[in-house]
Amino acid sequence: MALPNGARYRIGGVDFAVVNDGTYYYDAGAVFGVVPRMMWERVAPPLDERYRMPLGLNCLLLRSRGQTILIETGVGAKPGDRDAASPAEEGTLLTSLAALGVTPEEIDVVVNTHLHADHCGWNTSASVNGGDEVLVPTFPNARYVINATEWEDATHPNERTRATYLARNLDPIADRLELMDGEHQITDEVIFVPVPGHTEGHSSVVIRSGQEWGVYVGDMAQHRVQLERTPWVSGLDILPLVSMETKKRLMDECIEAGALVMFCHGPYPGVGRMTRTEEGFRKWVDVAPEGEGLDLHAHPHDHP
Ligand SMILES: [Zn+2]
Repeated sequence: MALPNGARYRIGGVDFAVVNDGTYYYDAGAVFGVVPRMMWERVAPPLDERYRMPLGLNCLLLRSRGQTILIETGVGAKPGDRDAASPAEEGTLLTSLAALGVTPEEIDVVVNTHLHADHCGWNTSASVNGGDEVLVPTFPNARYVINATEWEDATHPNERTRATYLARNLDPIADRLELMDGEHQITDEVIFVPVPGHTEGHSSVVIRSGQEWGVYVGDMAQHRVQLERTPWVSGLDILPLVSMETKKRLMDECIEAGALVMFCHGPYPGVGRMTRTEEGFRKWVDVAPEGEGLDLHAHPHDHP
């Protein structure tokens, strides 16, 4: 089955494509946390026989001011990366990039919203060197933009986080980091912004051009209903009360501005707008892509 790939969108003068690393299956009860099942099962997608829900693995590829930028790197395909929760045949991020004519060497910047294993797996790949398997950065010319607190937490995991903060995704890139304490302009159009809650160092990426902006919210939600309903906070969030405040503030800003909202775990491509109903509730509306594929090489920014 051909996987969906290359859905293209535009924010002002910035084009981006949603690239795909397959599907991740996760326990639906853990995703919805303290929300009772009788409430979430009305909105959740069908679960598998192990009560898991399918989660998308939507990453963004964009070009801004001559930089080719990859936001998020999915589950990966190293030994141990993909198991029953993320089937091996679906480690499709590099295939998705290749379908758009983009090689790993061309990526200048990789951005990780946080370092859970389903968001940074393709940071590194296994390579055979004289019979020994070694881990190498997948994107050999890239610098990796990561929040400094997130890096610290990920490289010093505790009993709760050590199953998802994995040295194999982190150690090989340790000499290519751009660790950020707060807001950081990757370019004047692509801005890395702290949005704590899911983890303390969790960040989002704002794309801004002209009067328009949009935001890739990372793991602020695993299902769109969690963006709509303030107290529906994932059981995976480390700071649930902070998540509620962060979400309310950012989603209200998005409604006001008509901003595009992109998130990792929505069904492909996971792009929509947050709106307000007449009753005053937030409501997610899917936004269809403007087209398939993305001609990054012909982008006007390449030819100033
Ligand atoms: Zn995640």
